[in-house]
Amino acid sequence: MASCQDCNAKVATHAQPMIICDRCWASRFSTQFMEGEYIPFRDIHKARLKGLNLWRKEGESIGDWGDRCKAFSKQNQHRRLFK
Ligand SMILES: [Zn+2]
Repeated sequence: MASCQDCNAKVATHAQPMIICDRCWASRFSTQFMEGEYIPFRDIHKARLKGLNLWRKEGESIGDWGDRCKAFSKQNQHRRLFK
């Protein structure tokens, strides 16, 4: 398996337009068209998580962050699109 040509740390999962991993592909190419402009998806996602107080807090472990997100998800089942 080829390594990502951008980060050289992860396995590449995209072959076109370049050999690249999912995270790097999203950083380069994934956008949402909103109010007349293309906004990077990852910026929108980060802003959304911050608005829900679900962005990772300073000093918070990945595990604790994940647990907090899971707890939020379980408390908000009514917001799911698919059940
Ligand atoms: Zn990468």
